[in-house]
Amino acid sequence: MRAQQGLINAFQNGSRGEGIQAMAAGVDTSGRVVEPAREVPVAHDVDVLVVGGGIAGVMAALASGRTGARTLLVERFGSLGGAGTAAMMNLFYVPYAAASGPVRELFDRLIAAGGAIPGEFVVYDPELYKVTTLDMLAEAGVKVLLHTLVSDVIVHSSALRGIVAENKSGRQALLGRVTVDSSGDGDVAARAGAPYIKGREADGKMRPMTLIFRMGGVEVPRLVEYVRAHPGDFSPDPLQTMLDVDHQMIRIFGFFNLVEQAKARGELWPECYYFRVESVLPERGVLTVNATRVYGVDGTNAEDLSRAEIETRHQMLQLAGFAREYIPGFERSFILDSASTIGVRETRRIRGEYLMTEDDILAGRRYDDVVAVDANQQNARQQGGHPPDGKEGGPQDREARELIARLYIYEIPYRSLLPQGIDGLLVAGRCISVDHHADVYTRNQGSAMATGVGAGVAAALAARAGVPPRRVDIRAVQSGLRSLGVDLDLLRRLGPVPDRFDSVSSPQQQDN
Ligand SMILES: Cc1cc2nc3c(=O)[nH]c(=O)nc-3n(C[C@H](O)[C@H](O)[C@H](O)COP(=O)(O)OP(=O)(O)OC[C@H]3O[C@@H](n4cnc5c(N)ncnc54)[C@H](O)[C@@H]3O)c2cc1C
Repeated sequence: MRAQQGLINAFQNGSRGEGIQAMAAGVDTSGRVVEPAREVPVAHDVDVLVVGGGIAGVMAALASGRTGARTLLVERFGSLGGAGTAAMMNLFYVPYAAASGPVRELFDRLIAAGGAIPGEFVVYDPELYKVTTLDMLAEAGVKVLLHTLVSDVIVHSSALRGIVAENKSGRQALLGRVTVDSSGDGDVAARAGAPYIKGREADGKMRPMTLIFRMGGVEVPRLVEYVRAHPGDFSPDPLQTMLDVDHQMIRIFGFFNLVEQAKARGELWPECYYFRVESVLPERGVLTVNATRVYGVDGTNAEDLSRAEIETRHQMLQLAGFAREYIPGFERSFILDSASTIGVRETRRIRGEYLMTEDDILAGRRYDDVVAVDANQQNARQQGGHPPDGKEGGPQDREARELIARLYIYEIPYRSLLPQGIDGLLVAGRCISVDHHADVYTRNQGSAMATGVGAGVAAALAARAGVPPRRVDIRAVQSGLRSLGVDLDLLRRLGPVPDRFDSVSSPQQQDN
């Protein structure tokens, strides 16, 4: 990993990256361009620098700002939410009743604005999500820098001092006493030299990528009638096949036989085994389709990302044609829009001071250094619906065709946010230190939010105390989390597998 050593030159006055400098570089004999050393203006110098404005980064910045740290959030896209908005998702996979602190507050603000529906998970409107998170950050005094790609790290003596970013203003150094890497892919930690695992430990295979798109003009009542009349052709899991039109909760996973018919006529690609829709707007005839799949691609490789974008766009056309031709209610439907980015489920997980496993989750393991608690429904020892080997939803896929998930509550220790071998850095969100099977649970937005809040409070307190994150007072972090309203005792009160979601008591009723 290349780390920039001492290349910072603060320009106190004058052109802060306004001029575009040409690079005086040469191409050496091995076909590589040799970049000369150059001066990079310091555009910001803060207490806590948060890289990545997905939901983990939003929560980290919010918690850091509320804990009193001067906080900067850096995001490469023009809006916040990451996979949760740009990849066109529409639900937080965590029961409303299990959320607390800033997470519950986000849910409540969205609900009050007509942008979310609470339940066994929380369905939301991505556009209100983008605006509400910006508002919450502004109120917490967090500075947000959009359209800024982090491209390098600044490391002194195994401690991260900041990052180098590229944007329309040029190349900039952004300094922070503590940095939270919430880039999803662990870009900062990997560049800084932290060890990581990509994909499944045995063979490095990662879960498939998906381009989500929306279809309009669907006659939902006719669709629902059809699904009710053919229960054998759909997942038996009530959370996967959910037909609650009154509450705008529609999720349908299956159409297994119809897909086989279309494949026999060459109308769908051979690795397609199902069609899947979900929605917050069924009354307006709009459904989200989550059924494109590309396997064997790596979200940290630009060629693979390009291939996935191209392949899934062609799959989208096939799926829309299939729906119009085979599924009652879709006859007059059309593609309304597609996500602005391919959805990446799995890439790097940074190796931290603790590696959390699925066994920890199933055993309901509790930690002295707990900083996050999350809950979601899974099938134990499965792949969370997305096996890296392909054939998802195929006849052999018991998880899709037979199993019914149940709720798991689990704690996440601070050590899983602490990368090995590098100081000044925490990770939050999808890239925390868990194994491939624990990632089935923790890759969801609930854990991304909870670890974001945990990392944000810890980063702010470490910056204030002037100590590296690994030496922060963990009791002070836990007390800081509680003062933000975070319920760290959910697992202790309810155990790892409560019967039903409604039995998850509200954090307002907590006894601590
Ligand atoms: C198709 C699909 C469906 C899913 N469905 C659900 C679901 O229904 N419910 C659920 O809860 N979860 C779902 N998930 C999982 C979940 O959405 C993500 O794992 C979660 O949102 C990750 O949050 P994060 O903040 O860790 O990362 P991300 O959301 O990936 O955020 C990372 C952010 O960092 C930015 N970034 C990355 N690199 C850089 C860089 N170098 N410089 C600057 N910025 C950078 C990105 O633009 C992004 O905004 C789904 C995922 C996919 C792909």
